[in-house]
Amino acid sequence: MSDQPPTAPATAPVANAPAEDDASPIEKLIDLSESHGHMPRGVGMVSGIFALILGFLCFLGVLAFHFPAALTTPELRKSYDVDVLRQVLFWSMVVSGGISVGNLVLGRQRWLASAAFGFVLAAALLGGHKVPVADFPDHVPYVGLDWLILDLLGSGLLFIFIEKLFPLRKDQPIFRAEWQTDLYYFIVNHLVIGFILLTTNLLVFRFFGWAVKDGVQGWIAALPLPVGLLLILLVADLVQYWTHRAYHEVPALWRLHAVHHSAKSMDWLCGSRQHILELLLTRTLILAPIYVLGFSKEVIDAYIVVVGLQAVLNHCNVNIRLGPLRYLIVTPNFHHWHHSQDTEAIDKNYAAHFAFLDHLFGTAVQSDRTWPDRYGVKGDYMPEGFWRQVAFPFVGKTDMDR
Ligand SMILES: [Zn+2]
Ligand SMILES: [Zn+2]
Repeated sequence: MSDQPPTAPATAPVANAPAEDDASPIEKLIDLSESHGHMPRGVGMVSGIFALILGFLCFLGVLAFHFPAALTTPELRKSYDVDVLRQVLFWSMVVSGGISVGNLVLGRQRWLASAAFGFVLAAALLGGHKVPVADFPDHVPYVGLDWLILDLLGSGLLFIFIEKLFPLRKDQPIFRAEWQTDLYYFIVNHLVIGFILLTTNLLVFRFFGWAVKDGVQGWIAALPLPVGLLLILLVADLVQYWTHRAYHEVPALWRLHAVHHSAKSMDWLCGSRQHILELLLTRTLILAPIYVLGFSKEVIDAYIVVVGLQAVLNHCNVNIRLGPLRYLIVTPNFHHWHHSQDTEAIDKNYAAHFAFLDHLFGTAVQSDRTWPDRYGVKGDYMPEGFWRQVAFPFVGKTDMDR
């Protein structure tokens, strides 16, 4: 924990007016999904959006029960218990339906409450938590709907709880400006997990298969879990450091990576903002040495858990610095500085796991302030909205292009 950060939130206000009061419920919903501004104020908005998202996830969950071959992730299916998921689905329907009915009765944002209730009703009519799962074929193309639902529920609950426990910018709401854009990244990047796994595996085998050496692989596969985990994190972070540095220093790569840096508010959701090409390229380059060196499956599984948790935590709106350990480990404070557009922070703090790499290579931020003032890209040239940002690396201009 550390000194308090600047009180003013580092978010630029965005000029997207909420829908007029006399707009139809559908128009209001479309406006909500397309806007980039702060959530419009009103009693029942936070609970209404929460119920809407939860109700929508229930609806998607029932679809996943109906079409498991096409809508669930083979790697993930092995590790969850379907009966537990049925319980989660049932209680999610109860919570979302309950909040919606409450808001409908009390007259709070009825347009939101009725949309949420509509999704819960559709989920129930489609069989709810009782949909039987028949045998189905493996190894067919799929979208990772189960991965999306479970990670959104799990990460949302866990990291919002941590953000409330150790808040950094206390006046930053959960539904801050541009939350919709980051949610679209979260959704799309989770749905395409099958495509990403397949493509990165093919690229790794195609381009790095020649480097495999049985002797080295045997030695590394036999390492005890803690040693193997430390080594895999170090190897991955060395590759990640130089890849990340190249993203900042090569103009064509910066156009891709600027998308990630365009987030003006830091929280658990903003780290999802990543162009899919960057996702593919970075994962391929990091997986290559992991594959070539031959780490054991348990080490790789532990590594995936650490990466997933640390990557989200480092973007969270949390006041965590870890005292002197911050010179060793990448903390939220360290990565917040990486996202800052303050002068002393530009092109600094590249590491993802071990902060000492930046101290070693001379790229650690040196500042007399504890926390940065402003996040985002200097010059604010990134357009708003998911699709415009997906196109940006091909049609946009960054500060390096000017
Ligand atoms: Zn960066
Ligand atoms: Zn980041």
